[in-house]
Amino acid sequence: MPKDYLVPLLRESQSKILLLILDGLGGLPMEAGGPTSLEAANTPMMDRMAAEGTLGQIVPIRPGITPGSGPAHLALFGYDPLTYLVGRGALEAVGIGMQVKPGDVAARGNFCTLDANGLISDRRAGRISSEAARPLTTMLQTIEVPGVEIEVQHLKEYRFAIVMRGEGLHGEIEDTDPQRVGMAPLEPVAQDKASERAAKLLRQWIGSAQALLAGQPQANGVTLRGFGTDPVLPKFQDMYGLKAACVAVYPMYKGVSQLVGMDVQRFEGEQPADEFAEVARVWPDYDFVFCHVKKTDSMGEDGNFAGKQAIIEIVDQALQTVLDLKPEVVIITGDHSTPAKMKYHSWHPVPLLLWAPERGLQDLQTAFGERACALGGLGTIPATEILPLALAHAGRLGKFGA
Ligand code: ZN
Repeated sequence: MPKDYLVPLLRESQSKILLLILDGLGGLPMEAGGPTSLEAANTPMMDRMAAEGTLGQIVPIRPGITPGSGPAHLALFGYDPLTYLVGRGALEAVGIGMQVKPGDVAARGNFCTLDANGLISDRRAGRISSEAARPLTTMLQTIEVPGVEIEVQHLKEYRFAIVMRGEGLHGEIEDTDPQRVGMAPLEPVAQDKASERAAKLLRQWIGSAQALLAGQPQANGVTLRGFGTDPVLPKFQDMYGLKAACVAVYPMYKGVSQLVGMDVQRFEGEQPADEFAEVARVWPDYDFVFCHVKKTDSMGEDGNFAGKQAIIEIVDQALQTVLDLKPEVVIITGDHSTPAKMKYHSWHPVPLLLWAPERGLQDLQTAFGERACALGGLGTIPATEILPLALAHAGRLGKFGA
C-alpha cells in the first residue's frame, strides 16, 4: 500500500478537508513578461486564502513529464502513477457506472470515418453529436462474441466504452487507433501471452462492428484504446482514514475516484456553483471531499487564455459557498498544467494553495499565481505528498517515533 507509514500515525478527528482541483490549472504567459491566466484572473477569494495560507508547487509525475489526467489524479490521491498504472478505458467505463471487475477488459472507443479503401479519413467521425452516436452504440450492443459477455455504453459525442467479461482475459493490448488519418485502424495486438485470448476476441468484435456500421454516412468504423482492467487499488479509507466523496462532472474523474474507494455523487448541473452546492450538501457525511472542475483544462487545450481566466474567476466567485462550511483544510491546485499558449498538457509544476487557518504557517505570498507559488513556503513537492500535508494540517496525524 502506498504511504503505509501513515497508517500507524492516523488519528481520529472531526476535521474536514476539501481538495479542489482545477484541471490543467498551471499556465504560461502568452508573451514574455505577461501574466498567466491564473495571474490575470481577478480572484479576491483565492488571493485572500493565499495571504492567509501557504503556497507552493506540485510536480505531477516526475520533473519534465507531461501527464494525462488519469495518472495525474492518481498522484494527487497519493498513488505513484509509475507504480499504479490504470488504463483510461477502465477509468471512463467505471465513471459512467459500468462494472469493471479484476479480469475484465475495458477500453474506450471512438467512432471514426473510413474511406472506400478502409482508411481512416476522420478519427472522430466529424465529432458526431451524442444524438447521432447513441443509435450507433445501440447497434454495437447487439454484437455477440461466443465465450464472453460484452457491454457497450455511449460516453459522449463520438466516444463509447466497452467492457469484455469472461474467463482468461487480460488487458495488455495495444491501441487500435493509429493516431492519424490515411491509415486503416490497427488490429488489437496483445502485448503479452496472457492477453492473446482477449485480443483475438476483440478482433472478432471489431469485425462485426465494421460490418454493422458499413454504409453509415459519417461513422462507419471504430477504434479502441486505453485497454485496462480494475487495478484493485488500495482504498483511500484504509490509507488515510478518511471517508471520501467525489464531486465531478466528467466520467474519467468519477472513475478514478471510484477505483480508489470514494463515494461518487450524482447531482444536477455542470457549473462550479452547482458542484459547490453539491459539496455543501454532502459535507456533513464525509471527512474529505474531492471536487473537480474540468473547464480550466478545456480552455487551455483550446488555446483560450481569456476563457481559462474567466473559468478561474467563476470558481473564485463561487468559493464562499465552501468556505461557509468552515473546512479545517482547503487545498486548491491542478492535476497538471495546460498552458493556453501550448494548447496541450505540459510538464510545468502546478500552483498549490494550502489554506488551514488553525495550523498553517503563513508565507509571504499574498496572491494565487504561478510566480507567487514558485516563491511559496511549501516549495516544490511531488503531487503524491499533498494528502499527508492535508492530514497533518487537519490534526489527523500523530507523532512519528518517540
Ligand atoms: Zn487534467
